[in-house]
Amino acid sequence: AKQPYDDSNIFARILRGELPSKTVLETDHSLAFHDINPLAPIHILVIPKGAYVSWDDFSARASDAEIADFTRAVGDVARQVGADAQGYRLLSNVGKRGGQEVPHLHVHIFGGQPLGPMLA
Ligand code: 5GP
Repeated sequence: AKQPYDDSNIFARILRGELPSKTVLETDHSLAFHDINPLAPIHILVIPKGAYVSWDDFSARASDAEIADFTRAVGDVARQVGADAQGYRLLSNVGKRGGQEVPHLHVHIFGGQPLGPMLA
């Protein structure tokens, strides 16, 4: 089921500067920061600055500029932290049944170890 964007979610609060985060990269339309509960030696979240609930919402409503910036940011972050050298995993949970806990689009970047079949 589609849900409206709730701007009290934790990533909206990080974007507004109300909560701290460890920034890895900031671009015009995207922000990347370390996951607070890392499940791998490299565990970074990349989010669009715009108010998008999920990948579903973002891919339907975001501008081409936002989509380009976000896509580029994910790859740039992986290279910036050296995850590209040994392989990494991208994951975006969509909706509660998809395992999404924070209702602001985020792509997880996992790396720094051999990755098994599933993470998060
Ligand atoms: P999801 O289950 O929605 O795909 O993933 C949410 C992720 O956000 C989890 O990996 C969780 O550890 C992370 N997270 C939750 N709250 C915070 C926070 O306040 N700061 C940071 N940096 N990460 C958070």
